[in-house]
Amino acid sequence: MADCIVMKFGGTSVGDAKAIERVASIVCERLPQHPVVVVSAMARVTDQLLQMARAAGSGDRKTALTLARELRERHYNTAGELLGTALFTQFHSDLGTEFEDLEELLRGISAVGELTPRTTDHVASFGEVLSSKLVTAAMSAHGIASTLIDSRECIVTDDTFTRAAPLFEETNSKLRELVQPLIKQGRVPVMGGFIGANRAGITTTIGRGGSDFSAAIVGAGLGADKIEIWTDVDGMMTTDPNLCPDARRIKVISFDEAAELAYFGAKVLHPATVLPAIQKNIPVYILNSRNPTCDGTRIAARAPHCRNFFKAIAAKKRITIIDIAAPRMLLAHGFLKAIFEAFDRHGIAIDVVSTSEVSVSLTVDSNESIPALAADLSRLADVKYEGRKAIVCLVGENLREVPGIAAHVFGQLTDVKIRMISQGASEINLTFVVDEEQVPSIVQRLHKIFFADPDPEIFA
Ligand code: ADP
Ligand code: ASP
Ligand code: MG
Repeated sequence: MADCIVMKFGGTSVGDAKAIERVASIVCERLPQHPVVVVSAMARVTDQLLQMARAAGSGDRKTALTLARELRERHYNTAGELLGTALFTQFHSDLGTEFEDLEELLRGISAVGELTPRTTDHVASFGEVLSSKLVTAAMSAHGIASTLIDSRECIVTDDTFTRAAPLFEETNSKLRELVQPLIKQGRVPVMGGFIGANRAGITTTIGRGGSDFSAAIVGAGLGADKIEIWTDVDGMMTTDPNLCPDARRIKVISFDEAAELAYFGAKVLHPATVLPAIQKNIPVYILNSRNPTCDGTRIAARAPHCRNFFKAIAAKKRITIIDIAAPRMLLAHGFLKAIFEAFDRHGIAIDVVSTSEVSVSLTVDSNESIPALAADLSRLADVKYEGRKAIVCLVGENLREVPGIAAHVFGQLTDVKIRMISQGASEINLTFVVDEEQVPSIVQRLHKIFFADPDPEIFA
């Protein structure tokens, strides 16, 4: 297959002209390895686009168009800084056409006063469409022979708007048809992450934070030698560095551990990223575009032995606990099935589950439409729900073998009200649910204890 690497740059790595310049020089250094570049929207742009879409959907055309104008200015200013006058004039009308399309779309949405998942995706897609154009132009200005690829022509997905699933066979054959020849010609293909299109060519997105997933899809489809996820921190850290300044870089971590961490809140890596890459045994690296000489984190099929109990601590806020109590249904056959079916009907994913004879507690993301679900569930049983909770998750392969680790953890938290505990599902995570406001102090305390003497083979 193609002899190439995939380099994905996140929002902060393309957040302004200086950041994009850095991207161009990082790519330049990798030219002998035949890079394929995948970019996110500029930092915060997806949030802003979704805000415009919601404003338009509620009929507030003025707000939507004002926000669109700010976005236009930011992209024009960045392009102006990156490109010389001649190139900028050429590029200006290209960007202008995109913004006219966006504004027309917003006018349409506000005229109808209704925002569907399908139009949401159309609006959100502009972020990556614009950033990929900008980065291609900047790289060309740097003398890199780059070619823009419209991801909607390569990444074929199903129709699940806002979280579409890729159709791998079709996607892979498109990648081979459209991207591979460019690599062979020595050009650098540039694609927007996060976006794709269904079989009918309608724009879709693959879920928030999905550009990492795009990079993995492209890497797996092309049989790349490695995938590099370039972000704004030195790699995967022992905990979120924003939460705990003592966080250390993890030099190497297993696929399974990284996936658990991502799933439970370490947003540095999108959980699904890991899957297509694991299947093809492609190594994934997390690297810092502000500090490109740092070795980052290597995600390997198997992690070497680690002296410490854990590799990292993740926390996921904005969690709601749903308690379902069914006294009448004591031990009733099919009760759990009925509950899970209700979650399935509402398309709501469950993170943590614990059961007793007469009740079940589950956690879900607070962003989901919980009242509708609760109304549905209350036909089966008594339902209570409570928001402002958080999941704390400690991850490490040692949990499989070393006895008594849980006692160590909970022994440190005797003053904390713990709502749910779960260990075992994957054997490598220990997970519990607490009040959201306690997260910083709990994570800092546990970090101090479990990473006091970090194994130098594993941590930097
Ligand atoms: P990008 O825009 O490059 O996709 P993200 O914002 O999605 O970047 O992810 C990077 C951020 O993830 C970091 O700035 C950091 O705040 C956060 N993060 C949370 N947990 C971790 C962790 N364990 N290691 C590193 N970063 C983490
Ligand atoms: N721009 C998209 C988002 O913010 C995808 C990504 O950055 O990974 O969710
Ligand atoms: Mg991200």
